[in-house]
Amino acid sequence: MKRIYFDHSATTPTDPEVAKLMLEYMTDKFGNPSSVHAFGREVRKALDTARENVAALIGAKTNEIFFTSGGTEADNLALKGIAFANRKKGNHIITTSIEHHAILHSCEYLEKQGFEVTYLPVDENAMVSIEDIKKAITDKTILISVMFANNEVGTIQPIKEIGQLAREKGIYFHTDAVQAAGNYPIDVNEYNVDLLTLSSHKFYGPKGVGVLYVRKGVRLDSVQHGGGQERNVRPGTENVPGIIGLGKAAQIAKQEMPSRMAHMTALRDKLIKGIQTKIPDIKLNGHPTKRAPGNVNFSFRYVEGEALLLNLDLKGIAASSGSACTSGSLDPSHVLLAMGLTHEVAHGSLRISLGRGNTEEDIDYCLEVLPEILERLRAMSPLNATSPAKECTLCSHCH
Ligand code: PLP
Repeated sequence: MKRIYFDHSATTPTDPEVAKLMLEYMTDKFGNPSSVHAFGREVRKALDTARENVAALIGAKTNEIFFTSGGTEADNLALKGIAFANRKKGNHIITTSIEHHAILHSCEYLEKQGFEVTYLPVDENAMVSIEDIKKAITDKTILISVMFANNEVGTIQPIKEIGQLAREKGIYFHTDAVQAAGNYPIDVNEYNVDLLTLSSHKFYGPKGVGVLYVRKGVRLDSVQHGGGQERNVRPGTENVPGIIGLGKAAQIAKQEMPSRMAHMTALRDKLIKGIQTKIPDIKLNGHPTKRAPGNVNFSFRYVEGEALLLNLDLKGIAASSGSACTSGSLDPSHVLLAMGLTHEVAHGSLRISLGRGNTEEDIDYCLEVLPEILERLRAMSPLNATSPAKECTLCSHCH
């Protein structure tokens, strides 16, 4: 059976060129970059190249790039690092209710340490309002953290405007760009960003490696302490193969950016249009235009997302019913609920996240099997049979 991977927001396959280079740094070039001898020096040089490639991907300087074990660690470092270093200045942080748990749970931890956090609401498209941010700012606000693109519904936030506001008010601005970096053009200067998180495995690099970009001059405490690597901001012997792989993936991403964007956007729009044309009782989740190039997210009335997933899997299609990190839990997605969806509708959601390897044929196949599966599931659904009314129950605004 043909197998189609539609879960690129969860992770992407490592580019073979990336994997080949990584292998070299696991076998022949195995030195510790802190060693002064030739084995160490050749690895140090390769790490410098990786740093240059990552910096070039986001318009940063090389000394503003700090390698971490992934997006989760970079988010933790950004929030805790800023909070603890700037405690005397203030104790207030602004974020949104639709962030990844790496942000939300770090905020909850900081609340226990005496910090105050404002979790801003979003509208029905998962968009945060600049006015709400303005209103939330106090003289104690030290950090605003708003994600670039949402991992579940793909909505792209007004990052440039938020950055500008933060700059005017003298507040640090962090963005979790895990779902955007490598797949969407980012320039930290154009966007007025002070701190930015990215993760290698979302753009054809290896898992377990990421970056926190920290603008020069930003005051940040380190979270872990050790041997002084990464200029003491993130000590610990570097994950050399991972970092080398990330650097290569960043270089490829920069080269491929225009074609990657165009390809994924075309496939995304074809799939969205196809689903809207062929399937009734649906709701597109996320912003209709300001959305990540590969993201498609729908709620299908009368069905359970999990049943839909299993049935798609039987047909060879791998998708997701929520974020990678929350799937496995039966709680409805906090993002969909924050957008005003009812529990029932949130449960019937499906995320399809496209990648550079997907083709038009993949989309055609999906548009062939998805309506059949839905028809079958809906025919069996007790939600369908017992639902007396035909009015829209797709969101809490009309229900
Ligand atoms: N932030 C966002 C928006 C994500 O989507 C993810 C992972 O899915 C993370 C952070 C965590 O990144 P990592 O898997 O590298 O720890």
